[in-house]
Amino acid sequence: MEWKINKGSKGCILCNKEFCEEEEYCSALFDENNAFIRKDYCASCWSKDKGDGLFSFWKTRLPKRDKPVQKFVDNEVFLDMFIRLEGKNEPNQRNLRYVLALYLIRKKIFKLKSFKKENGEEIITLHFPKENKEFNVFNPDLKDEEIDAITSEMSQLLNYPYLEQEVLINAD
Ligand SMILES: [Zn+2]
Repeated sequence: MEWKINKGSKGCILCNKEFCEEEEYCSALFDENNAFIRKDYCASCWSKDKGDGLFSFWKTRLPKRDKPVQKFVDNEVFLDMFIRLEGKNEPNQRNLRYVLALYLIRKKIFKLKSFKKENGEEIITLHFPKENKEFNVFNPDLKDEEIDAITSEMSQLLNYPYLEQEVLINAD
């Protein structure tokens, strides 16, 4: 999965208004030709036509400049992405779903339930206690470097793009 982000963007993608401290706005991921593109919208532009490909979105609030940088993206965003990727078969989408699963296990949102082999592929069954659901995830057998690369791309895409101090997803 490719991740694209307009690093220069400090404001709304439609009206170009810059976001101010503590302003609430919407961040959205679009799936465009198998690449994720992040776009930020001010509250009033969010209700306008956004075109096709909206994959996932979340509300964000710009922190005060002098406040320490916190972890911005909450687990709901990752859970939402994970669920939306169910049944997607592009290798990139599968890889991403697996990395999201690892993250959500680490955050104790999911519990590992079992492993099985199906057509030569390992399938991990996860339990989601909050809704008493189960999910299956393909294990794409990624190397540690590949997991790290996806994690850091994801983190860059999902956090505020213009803050110097990026917070890695796996930095607890
Ligand atoms: Zn706007």
